Amino acid sequence: MKKRVYIQGFPVDILSYAQALEYAKNAIYNGENMQVITINPEMVELAKKNKDFADILKHAELVVPDGVGIKIALKLKGINQERIGGIDYSRSLIELCARENLRLALLGAKEEVITSLCEKLKTEFSNLNIVFSHNGYFDNENEILEEIKKSRPQVLLCALGAPKQEIINYRLKEMLQGCTMVGVGGSFDVFSGHVQRAPIIWQKLGLEWLYRTIKQPERFKRIFPTLPIFLFESIMDSIKK
Ligand code: UDP
Repeated sequence: MKKRVYIQGFPVDILSYAQALEYAKNAIYNGENMQVITINPEMVELAKKNKDFADILKHAELVVPDGVGIKIALKLKGINQERIGGIDYSRSLIELCARENLRLALLGAKEEVITSLCEKLKTEFSNLNIVFSHNGYFDNENEILEEIKKSRPQVLLCALGAPKQEIINYRLKEMLQGCTMVGVGGSFDVFSGHVQRAPIIWQKLGLEWLYRTIKQPERFKRIFPTLPIFLFESIMDSIKK
């Protein structure tokens, strides 16, 4: 169903949003673990420098394109691919949990964020089965992972930022069964209302990253020079082929 292509040596799966959700559902009902990585240019640049992260990326069951930079890199290869953003995808997974009574675990963000997120979700989806939740600032990782294991989640959303969330999810793959685990970055901040998402028009224009950088100028150093380097190398990559 999905086709895997490589951007500067790192995988991206080509599939529709609906198919990406179908993959999660099938994995859960087949009792298989599935690590989903929503890849962006910063992650590609990080993987070039960090071999452990590169290995995790290569072993992920599903790598979907988040970020307009990845979309452009694919376009340079002649591939038209819709964006599958972490925020939207995790929101769909929460809805799936509510609809099909699946066990949901939430790990990450500040204490006040995760607390208000859980309250908000329980109000919105009265039958949502949140079996585990914890903030993302801890120094007893082994204990946290054991607790997650005990809660037997079928969907785990991990909001610790990359690469922390991908490393934790990778570790959990060895411990869980039938769980779809996704690294969702700053999604909890948005879901809980602590951070405002870019207006639809910015999202449609693929400029959500710019909106976030304007709102949180400290993000500037994450995007520059990473994004221009990534785009330049993507162009070189496409010329070579
Ligand atoms: N975070 C966390 N633990 C940490 C570092 C970060 O829980 O040790 C959380 C942070 O509070 C935020 C999220 O991880 O909610 C990272 O958000 P960021 O905007 O960096 O992620 P992005 O969406 O850019 O991937």
